[in-house]
Amino acid sequence: MLISVTEARKAHGQAFGFSFEEAVGPLELGAEAIALTKPVSANGTIVADAEGISVRGTLKTAFKAECARCLKPLEEPLDAEFDVRFHKSADDDDEIYLYEGDSLDITDMIKDYALLAVPIQSLCAADCKGLCAVCGANLNEGGCAHHE
Ligand SMILES: [Zn+2]
Ligand SMILES: [Zn+2]
Repeated sequence: MLISVTEARKAHGQAFGFSFEEAVGPLELGAEAIALTKPVSANGTIVADAEGISVRGTLKTAFKAECARCLKPLEEPLDAEFDVRFHKSADDDDEIYLYEGDSLDITDMIKDYALLAVPIQSLCAADCKGLCAVCGANLNEGGCAHHE
């Protein structure tokens, strides 16, 4: 997701809109990869000033999860807001988000914010009964010898 910053850099303080719909790779959380099941749609504005560029907006996608109790595969919606600063690459190597030249690549930032919005666990239903600890039967689909 590349945003042209040419116009914004000529007009400091003025907001310029952007809008994307693009498939991005899986979100990486340590050794785990969270697959996105829909392209990411991202909308927002950029505002440039002398030191860098502020990027704010919202993103929407969906991800592949499984129910924490019964392990049923799920597709969960994912929404997030972002409000971040991009600095010129020459400025400071410690800054997280950098840009160079006339374009800003927001793909990594979008993935970071999408990942932050992934819940610690997903459930197929708030009252999911889970699996029997003894025989592994899915208790949503009826009882087993260990449950009435
Ligand atoms: Zn479940
Ligand atoms: Zn059982």
